[in-house]
Amino acid sequence: MSSSPESAVVRESLAAKPLDMHVHVVGNGSGNSGCWVRVSPWRRPMAGLMLRHIGLPRTALKSDLERLYVERLLELVRSSSLGAVVILAQEQVHDDQGHPRPELGSFYVPNEYVLAIGRTHPELLPAVSIHPARPDALEELEWCLAGGAVMMKILPNCQNINCSDRRFARFWERMAEAHLPLLAHTGGEHTLPIVRADYSDPRTLILPLECGVTVIAAHCGTKSGLTDPEYFEVFVEMTQRFPNFYGDNSAFTVPIRGRHVAECVREPLVQRILHGSDFPVPVFGHFPWLRGFVDWKTFRQWEKHPNVLERDFQLKKAMGFPAETFTRCWKLLRVQTPLPSSN
Ligand SMILES: [Zn+2]
Repeated sequence: MSSSPESAVVRESLAAKPLDMHVHVVGNGSGNSGCWVRVSPWRRPMAGLMLRHIGLPRTALKSDLERLYVERLLELVRSSSLGAVVILAQEQVHDDQGHPRPELGSFYVPNEYVLAIGRTHPELLPAVSIHPARPDALEELEWCLAGGAVMMKILPNCQNINCSDRRFARFWERMAEAHLPLLAHTGGEHTLPIVRADYSDPRTLILPLECGVTVIAAHCGTKSGLTDPEYFEVFVEMTQRFPNFYGDNSAFTVPIRGRHVAECVREPLVQRILHGSDFPVPVFGHFPWLRGFVDWKTFRQWEKHPNVLERDFQLKKAMGFPAETFTRCWKLLRVQTPLPSSN
């Protein structure tokens, strides 16, 4: 692995600009990435809608998806107000003994793939994903740290990760030592299959927090479907107990998750909120406008904007998230200057 000194310089200049810390990449193996994606027939219309929404043809799923996706993402970042985005690897589902259970998941993005993209494009910062029950979890973590990982991303409820399992303490301690923050999905989820609904509870993140890891609760524990349990209040209470606990505002333009915007833009909670879009999850201005979070003019101005990263950024700004929400994450990420170089 290697990275050019020029990319370190470029990355330093980008760090003054807003950051979107929650961006998914997907691949179908077309570029030999090792990625796979399995879309069940009843989820196909949604997948097609997401591709159209980000400006790709529906047919991309069956063709050169990897090249098209990364090119489009770069185009969107470069023509937006953002300096960079964090791109997320996606670990496979594993059982409690650490054996992979690919049949339970719907997509996979290897760490190697996002790390390689990050080395080529300084605007795309790589977040890796490791199931801590894997027998080689610590080795994989070391390898990812050497490769330039800026964050780690997991979905405990979809990937079957009980973060408070004592067996994982050493793993979290090593992350804390290396200053690698953890982004963990919290609250319900309706885009991916759920394996353990009870792991949506932010309280399952207490062990990594106690081990000293900076933990970011994706979606602040908000529910996604009407019947999901609501963990927003639990999230808020935990921010009072743990100074190393944050939340992101990803998917806050959708009706159910966005119900808590008013609390999230108020002191002191606002100091723990980070900006993330959850790209390619669709961004619509209707809900923020109907709820009175943005005015008609702002809604009309951004609703049809073809750059969905910019649309999300502008709507969040209009919803009252202050400038620091968009830059705070730079201080939490493990961004090294100069970037690491290894064999
Ligand atoms: Zn997400």
